[in-house]
Amino acid sequence: MLRPEGLYCPPGDFYIDPWRPVDRAVITHAHADHARVGHAHYLAAAAGEGVLRARLGAEIDLQLLPYGEAIDHHGVRLSLHPAGHVLGSAQVRLEHRGEVWVASGDYFVSGADADARAANPTCAPFEPVRCHCFITESTFGLPIYRWQPQRELFAEIDTWWRANAEAGRASLLMGYSFGKAQRILAGVDPSIGPIVVHGAVETLNRAYRAAGVALPDTQLAVDVTDKALLRRALVVAPPSVHGSAWTRRFGEHSDAFASGWMQLRGARRRRAVDRGFVLSDHADWPGLQRAIAATGAQRVIVTHGYEAVMVRWLAEQGLQASAFQTEYGDEQEGAAEAQPEATPGAIAR
Ligand SMILES: [Zn+2]
Ligand SMILES: [Zn+2]
Repeated sequence: MLRPEGLYCPPGDFYIDPWRPVDRAVITHAHADHARVGHAHYLAAAAGEGVLRARLGAEIDLQLLPYGEAIDHHGVRLSLHPAGHVLGSAQVRLEHRGEVWVASGDYFVSGADADARAANPTCAPFEPVRCHCFITESTFGLPIYRWQPQRELFAEIDTWWRANAEAGRASLLMGYSFGKAQRILAGVDPSIGPIVVHGAVETLNRAYRAAGVALPDTQLAVDVTDKALLRRALVVAPPSVHGSAWTRRFGEHSDAFASGWMQLRGARRRRAVDRGFVLSDHADWPGLQRAIAATGAQRVIVTHGYEAVMVRWLAEQGLQASAFQTEYGDEQEGAAEAQPEATPGAIAR
């Protein structure tokens, strides 16, 4: 059920991704709109420990649960299952008196990719969990959102980077420092040239590497003094660097933005970048449909995203569908990454 603090489980007396401080919070993943500071006790997937502590502080009271392992709390059986969104992201499965609910948090399923692991090698792939009621996100819940096969997308990014390197200019690719940046790093061809990153990205890279995720070698932009190296480099940085003094060290460069919103005509123009790559950590329209169907749920509750469109579509499929007004939304993921010198556009996730 929904309370002013967030999604609440009455028999278990805990919240899922609450947006106001509570006693017991189950956290689906470490993005800022889902994982907030100030809760007394946290429970999260073991795989996300490093990124969660990197973002919320090393001292939080954090209980860890490996994927698939269950605990009982006040008669509620709770387990966490991979959501494929970012490192450590989890769906929360709750079972009480034979009734099973699953809260998805954010999840990634690309409709065009049968192999979820290949589509995003930086975290465990989304695992469908059978339930009676599925609480789903719907960030890209419109039929226009269809991700191309991820291999094709990365081939386009590599082509852009290679052409820039041959022309002697840096390739600045902006994407959120947690999740998106590591997807980019894991997906590009590191033989094209050196890879340079912003400090905010490297902090998360460290947590990913510590968790065993393979990422190519990266150098901090502030450490690079060789201008010739920069001219062949792929530079991965958060959107907040756009137009800031931080980018001046690269001289004349090509810039691009990686986001699901780049599918929208006009989004790239508003961003005023040379290229827009449609790279998202959220499910596209066919991915949402496939994920929801795989749960077998008869009841679906839609949280952040295009709730009305998704609820109507679900009702047409004969499901019992409704929406929750939550305070999730990746505008805040972006805002949380804002560096002091600049603000990211609210449009980009
Ligand atoms: Zn998220
Ligand atoms: Zn979210």
